[in-house]
Amino acid sequence: MRNELPPDRLSTTNETGKRVFVYPQTIRGKWQKRRSWVSVALVIFFLAIPWLRLNHRPVLLLDVIHRKFSILGLQFWATDVPLVVLIFLIFGIGIALITSVLGRAWCGWSCPQTVYIDVIYRRIEKWVEGDAIEQKRLDAGPIGLDRVLKKSFKWFLFVLVSWVISHSFLAYFIGSDQVLELLKHSPSENWGTFQAVWGFTAIVAFDFGWFREQFCIIMCPYGRFQSVMMDRDSVIVHYDAKRGEPRRDGGDCIDCGKCVNVCPTGIDIRRGVQLECIACTACIDACDSVMTKIKKPEGLIRFDTEGGMKNRKILRARTFAYVALLSASSLALIFLLSTRKNIEVTLLRAHDDPYRMLEGEDQPVINHFKLKLRNRHFATVQVNLNSTDARVNFVTPIRDLSLEESEERDFEFFVRFPKTFLKEGRAETRLEIQSRLGEQIENQNEEITLIGPF
Ligand code: SF4
Ligand code: SF4
Repeated sequence: MRNELPPDRLSTTNETGKRVFVYPQTIRGKWQKRRSWVSVALVIFFLAIPWLRLNHRPVLLLDVIHRKFSILGLQFWATDVPLVVLIFLIFGIGIALITSVLGRAWCGWSCPQTVYIDVIYRRIEKWVEGDAIEQKRLDAGPIGLDRVLKKSFKWFLFVLVSWVISHSFLAYFIGSDQVLELLKHSPSENWGTFQAVWGFTAIVAFDFGWFREQFCIIMCPYGRFQSVMMDRDSVIVHYDAKRGEPRRDGGDCIDCGKCVNVCPTGIDIRRGVQLECIACTACIDACDSVMTKIKKPEGLIRFDTEGGMKNRKILRARTFAYVALLSASSLALIFLLSTRKNIEVTLLRAHDDPYRMLEGEDQPVINHFKLKLRNRHFATVQVNLNSTDARVNFVTPIRDLSLEESEERDFEFFVRFPKTFLKEGRAETRLEIQSRLGEQIENQNEEITLIGPF
């Protein structure tokens, strides 16, 4: 049979194990049209995210250096790690749910690796070097002026695009304003960042321009474990062997090889479900165009389950498990967000004398505390510290402290109380930290232990 590979060999390697470069042919069809719309929208989305604002905050900022994260307009700090972990967990479970229902749809339809390559890099390649056959011919031909010029121009454009993608990627971690600021200054003023961006530009150009499907096949961790999330009821790109075989001789497949020629990972879907398949649907359109020509029904290659769509069980134990996990994580996130306070408070006893006694009728006792406040809000808040017990007073009242957006401040304070307040040398009480943001007042209580003479 044509295009038949030995079963134990990867489609992108030859008999000596060397890489065989894939030149996928362009195919038009209903799936490619839909995919093209989705991919273009996603490229715009990926590039735009760091520049978008919600509540005057970046929609997504992962400032690892300052341990400050902004997700969907909400500000998170290193101490909010459970919240950030929950958000990423929800994203991961969401992908697992999609995979169990729709197979590797994420890879072929949403993964930045696929959409950037398809929307930008392959189009540049086609524009400069011509279609798949011309590209193959150019690579196989002698190194002449034409080849050098075309390759140089293509790689110049690849590096240019990769530079833009790298800056956009950098903006996810340092913020778009910071990226613009960096661009205004000479590289010598930000030498480390400059080198990092060019290093990343080189990696992006290498990966999207040359490494391509090898990343999906060899390196992508999701590609490795996605098969465990799928079962025979997952919808995958599927060759109908019952209808297609034996090829040419009785079956509907005429062994034209078109499905292989359009495949970006170079595989033959007729060999059955394969790890390398990224569900890009190019082979569906290719085969449908052949079926139309030879007047056979479309769908020899189609989105289907192993058992067939009619017998498909969408709601099965696996789906319920993912939905349950997704719901539990979402509820936990909603709970944590709704109980989250504007001010993060850390209250500790100071490391000096445990207490001091003062002169006075009621034998006053003094305790010393340290307070760290961090404003989690995007605006300036005013903070007051109150005692919830009239017998416990602040030596110096803490009133109308102004904390600016994201500001963190340390304070020390003393509380005074009569010795009779203590039982066996100690007593529990609560302090109220009141934060005011315009008309909105938020109170949080912190438990402290007061100590004195036994
Ligand atoms: S087998 Fe079909 S769906 Fe899978 S990667 Fe190749 S062309 Fe895309
Ligand atoms: S495109 Fe269809 S007919 Fe042609 S080889 Fe592939 S499965 Fe067979």
